[in-house]
Amino acid sequence: MNNENFCCERLKGAYLVGNGFGLNFRVIQYSEKLYNELKQIKPSMLNRGFVITSGYKNSIDDEETMKMVINHCPFCGQNLKEFYKSDDYVQETIG
Ligand SMILES: [Zn+2]
Repeated sequence: MNNENFCCERLKGAYLVGNGFGLNFRVIQYSEKLYNELKQIKPSMLNRGFVITSGYKNSIDDEETMKMVINHCPFCGQNLKEFYKSDDYVQETIG
């Protein structure tokens, strides 16, 4: 991916590290099926999620993956959905 921009160096670092390295920051997209289910619960829901994990082997969606969904950058406070709009940021689709 080229021309990537990040809200700050620290989040960029957490985004770029390998899956097994914790803590890492991941941008995920919900499958169409899952997204449609989520929208029933919360209509304003995005098809995108921002997640901090403690590291994982295969998929962020593995049951043993410890993860936390976040809305703002923990380092600089940036609103993530406003900054990371491009599909180019998406690292994994789940659901
Ligand atoms: Zn930041």
